[in-house]
Amino acid sequence: MRYKDLNELSDVGLVGSNADWHNLPKEVYKSVKKEKLTLLRTLHDRISTDAKLPMPPVRVEPFGWVSPDGMSVVFGKTEWFALKDGSYFIGVLMPVSTLVAVEDQVLLRRILCHELRHWFWYLQKLFHGGESVDPALY
Ligand SMILES: [Zn+2]
Repeated sequence: MRYKDLNELSDVGLVGSNADWHNLPKEVYKSVKKEKLTLLRTLHDRISTDAKLPMPPVRVEPFGWVSPDGMSVVFGKTEWFALKDGSYFIGVLMPVSTLVAVEDQVLLRRILCHELRHWFWYLQKLFHGGESVDPALY
């Protein structure tokens, strides 16, 4: 389980240490705090409205990701999160590199919809007793 320091189940937010966030270039940190989170929140809400289903919570961490073989960029994944009260949820985790590299809102929405599909797939596996299924799907 990741991020036991989460305090709340808001729709969109940041995870990771303050030190890691402040290691990013200032422009990146400012842009994420001022604009990118708002954009993510807007896309999150629109997807929920369009799908007539709740989009899972989305969290952004202060890193860039590549695939395990190092050959491709990873834009997001589904992941377990733990709240301080001991409860858990499955949400979407994105590296900040996605918000920096993907300026096109249509593409960012597609990435979120892709993760929504993984979220459904994972829930379906859980309902059918697939507890050994790795929730970390790219
Ligand atoms: Zn995928």
